[in-house]
Amino acid sequence: MTTTAGLDRETLDLILGTLKDLGKDLITDERCLEWDEKDILPEDVIRKLLSPDVGMHLVFLPEDCGGLGGGAHDIYRVSEAMAKLDLGVATAFLAIALGSDPLRVGATDEQRERWLGRVAEEGLVVAYGVTEPEAGSNVAALKTVAEPIMEGDTVKAYRLNGTKQFISNGSIADLFTILAKTPGGPSFFVLEKGTPGLTPGRMEVKHGIRSSNTAQVILEDVEIPADQLIGLEEGKGLHQANEVFGFTRLMVAAFGLGGGEAALERAIAYSRERKQFGKPLCELRGYTHKLLLPNFVRLEAARAYIEEVAARLDSGEPGLQTEGSIAKLYATETGNAAAEDSIQALGGYGYCHEYVVEKIKRDVRITTIYEGTSEIQQSIIYLFRFRQTVRSKGAFYTDQAAEVRALGDAVAGDLVGRCAEALAHTLLTFRKLKLASGQHVQFELALRITEVEHALAFCRRAARVETPGLQAACRVFAAEVATNLVTTCLRTLAAGKIEPEKVTEFKQAVDVEALLETPVGSFEEMAEVIAWMLEE
Ligand SMILES: Cc1cc2nc3c(=O)[nH]c(=O)nc-3n(C[C@H](O)[C@H](O)[C@H](O)COP(=O)(O)OP(=O)(O)OC[C@H]3O[C@@H](n4cnc5c(N)ncnc54)[C@H](O)[C@@H]3O)c2cc1C
Repeated sequence: MTTTAGLDRETLDLILGTLKDLGKDLITDERCLEWDEKDILPEDVIRKLLSPDVGMHLVFLPEDCGGLGGGAHDIYRVSEAMAKLDLGVATAFLAIALGSDPLRVGATDEQRERWLGRVAEEGLVVAYGVTEPEAGSNVAALKTVAEPIMEGDTVKAYRLNGTKQFISNGSIADLFTILAKTPGGPSFFVLEKGTPGLTPGRMEVKHGIRSSNTAQVILEDVEIPADQLIGLEEGKGLHQANEVFGFTRLMVAAFGLGGGEAALERAIAYSRERKQFGKPLCELRGYTHKLLLPNFVRLEAARAYIEEVAARLDSGEPGLQTEGSIAKLYATETGNAAAEDSIQALGGYGYCHEYVVEKIKRDVRITTIYEGTSEIQQSIIYLFRFRQTVRSKGAFYTDQAAEVRALGDAVAGDLVGRCAEALAHTLLTFRKLKLASGQHVQFELALRITEVEHALAFCRRAARVETPGLQAACRVFAAEVATNLVTTCLRTLAAGKIEPEKVTEFKQAVDVEALLETPVGSFEEMAEVIAWMLEE
């Protein structure tokens, strides 16, 4: 896949190097622990990152507005690196990127220059105001109103009233993009700090990302000129929000990946040093196979998928919202589980603040909630992939199956191909058997869709990269995906009380035995992955 958008390698390396250096002085473990413990918002640090000296926000902004025009790959790498330092600080940048997005995709040229140009040049902190007390996952339920103020036949201004909930940077932002109802439908407006009637409300005390600012934003008779309606056309708000989901969900996926890795790296390092029963923990197979190996393998799968979607976005492929959902669901749930197991891997020390992993665990938890909860991603994934599978009569997956089979056994091409075919068959058969009308079944299938698509991406990446440890990880992952797929299918057929002949027919069609009784993911392969994981 050719990458056509984004930074050159040197610039990206320079930015990642800067972030690494910041981890040594400005965003050290000690400082992050103090911000977390005392609920401190390090606004000076955020302003420093936005200053001309660092200019971290420029990665997220287009070149024609004074930004660096980072592509999806760059944004993923920078987001991952930021999340590894501190997810609270990273969240401030997510909000700046999200808040700038309606302008990036929907503003007129003049508005882009006026507002995005200032974000780039002056390093403005931006907040993205969509959620409301009664409009969370269901954005369409929004109540904030922008009432037109007329001068003759033309709209001269808008008067905004409402409350926005859980807004990142809500009390410190210089600029707000606010979604509000207009007669033409939901629309984004850009508002400046200090506009009369615009005030931050209650600040939340949170489980994690305590270094980030989350606050209500209250709008009471806020009057703004009509040219602060983004795009100067009412009713485009939801479209503008949807258009960037491919990017923004990938960014949060990278947060999940970075958070999970940050915790797991600490657990791996600890397992080398800590001795119990006369041995380092990393030599105890129960410990490694339960707490380290599965997380290591799954995070590699998450990376493979994120990289593939980023490359597709950078090559100009439009949309990819479903792929954004798949990336976000898997990477954030995986990052969260990896952080949870990392606490266990450090024993009592893992439970203590000083050892950082429990902070990471609390931080990374948010990634399964904001930018669309995991359950909302599951709804999207099932709906869109089910439609694609039905429309293509299964070819959406069977074509990919044929392609990965050709990649060979080193990357479990045959098993992953079988999984993709079995998934297509499952989606089509469950439709015929009327088994997937319940949301709980759809959610289970969404998880299997997500895993199979990760296995396909992992296969392609491992074939490209050709590192033996990565290829072994790919095979171990393939075996897990096959097992989960079979379990879901058989359990659903049983719970749906499907007649035995039809179950037998299904088992034969997907070749359950071939999926389960495979040497792929053997003990030797697991040992190979562990050896690779423990390399320093
Ligand atoms: C720290 C933090 C920062 C945030 N930053 C921002 C920000 O900068 N800007 C912004 O606009 N918003 C922001 N949010 C809001 C965030 O995006 C929402 O909290 C999130 O979308 C969920 O909405 P909700 O909290 O109202 O939960 P609800 O929508 O009420 O959901 C509650 C539960 O029900 C589930 N659920 C909901 N609908 C369905 C369904 N159809 N089927 C099955 N289950 C369902 C959800 O998955 C969840 O588990 C932030 C939130 C937090 C906590």
